[in-house]
Amino acid sequence: MSRESTVREWRTRLPRYRLLGGKCSDCGRSFYPPAKACPYCGSRNVAETELPRVGRLEAYTVLYSVESGARDKSPVVIGLVDLGVAKVVTEIVDYGDPKILERGMQVEAVFRRIYEDGDEGVIVYGVKFRPKA
Ligand SMILES: [Zn+2]
Repeated sequence: MSRESTVREWRTRLPRYRLLGGKCSDCGRSFYPPAKACPYCGSRNVAETELPRVGRLEAYTVLYSVESGARDKSPVVIGLVDLGVAKVVTEIVDYGDPKILERGMQVEAVFRRIYEDGDEGVIVYGVKFRPKA
């Protein structure tokens, strides 16, 4: 088995690589992140659902003031992404210059490192969004 196919297999098995949200069986709404209770009606009759990976950047803010220890990551862009069935507040990555960002542009989910636990050496991955090519 090639290294590439091993990585692909690992990624597809890892639930965080898919954009999983919740769907309420009572009010029918979807939400992100998944939760045990529906944030709209409080029902616990919810199930995990896979959300679309492409949406529109509804709003965003560019943060130039970031915590010490993360200054090399400045600026950080936080966006509100409308997936149609649900909205996601997330970090926007891979834009180069924040001036190219605009409301309404298409963005897609990507699988990225969120943080690394220094003591355990555990790398935590999650979903962020980037402008869609
Ligand atoms: Zn509900």
